[in-house]
Amino acid sequence: MEAETGIIENANGSARFKIGKTEAIAAVYGPSEVKPKHLEKVDRGIILCKYDMMPFSVPDRAKPGIDRRDMEIGEVITNALNRAVLLEEMPRSMIAVNVYVSQADAGTRCASLTAASMACADAGLPMRDLVASVAGGKIGDSICLDLTKEEEDFHEAAATDVPMGFLPSKNEIVLLQLDGKVTREDLRKIIEIGKMGAARIYELEKKALKRRFLNESKT
Ligand code: ADP
Repeated sequence: MEAETGIIENANGSARFKIGKTEAIAAVYGPSEVKPKHLEKVDRGIILCKYDMMPFSVPDRAKPGIDRRDMEIGEVITNALNRAVLLEEMPRSMIAVNVYVSQADAGTRCASLTAASMACADAGLPMRDLVASVAGGKIGDSICLDLTKEEEDFHEAAATDVPMGFLPSKNEIVLLQLDGKVTREDLRKIIEIGKMGAARIYELEKKALKRRFLNESKT
């Protein structure tokens, strides 16, 4: 895994997160005036997140432009960030989050959410916690963490994919989706292994942010 922040000069906050062969880059703009105006909330800020895969992120060239899958992923990232960022401290304002996947080998929504939360922290937004996100699942009889595309597509063994997002220091789940079939007991095991993975990601996120702010205070 690799994590770094402050990678984009022209954004208020930015980050890159790589896990295996999946890599996401996030840029955060704001807080700024809400556009379009009708989305404005008098008592809190709003987050608008756009997710996109770069054409060269997959072997067969991803079609440019936002499709239904991109919209769904933008929505689940927004929902998770809504729980992490203290939006009540920024009424009538908007945070724009743009996430781009530069390399996709499954788990892009998780890598994107992790990068987006680091970018929010890098932008100096008040937050309850960082989000650490990873997918777990089941291949055949094995409970697994961070499945690759090949593992996810392993249909003979009916692979199950469970993207998860945590606020580690609050012990809260802010993203939980399920693709496939799973028993209640296996889901519990997948969440447990997800929590363990998230704890490692969380340490890396904090290290990346500390590195950035220590470097800045030196210059
Ligand atoms: P996630 O990336 O969060 O696991 P999906 O389950 O929808 O979300 O996608 C799984 C994987 O399928 C992606 O990470 C990527 O490797 C591949 N994939 C998704 N969309 C495309 C596409 N348009 N072209 C090629 N591969 C894709």
